[in-house]
Amino acid sequence: MKANLMPNILFCNVNECAYNGDEKCHAVAITVGGPQPLCDTFFRSGRKGGGEDAGSVGACKNEVCAYNESFECTAYGINVSLHSTKPECDTFMQRSNN
Ligand code: SF4
Repeated sequence: MKANLMPNILFCNVNECAYNGDEKCHAVAITVGGPQPLCDTFFRSGRKGGGEDAGSVGACKNEVCAYNESFECTAYGINVSLHSTKPECDTFMQRSNN
């Protein structure tokens, strides 16, 4: 099934990211990487950026996630949090081999 809308970023607690405010991502669209589902859009800055609205997932390179289809995310929404020092997609679900 192909998603028609970009998945929402429902929650992100990576406060040190330039796009984070009030535990929400304010980038228009992020890219999630591979092979680990890390947020590739994360970066630190002395000031905050992004828009008023909460962001979405524009692209995801993690092929082993069950929500990934043609390098796009088909989940309704995702959560992102810090794993050690790296922002990671918590909605990631390992694709079964069946
Ligand atoms: S849920 Fe899966 S496909 Fe969607 S952004 Fe996270 S890792 Fe990528």
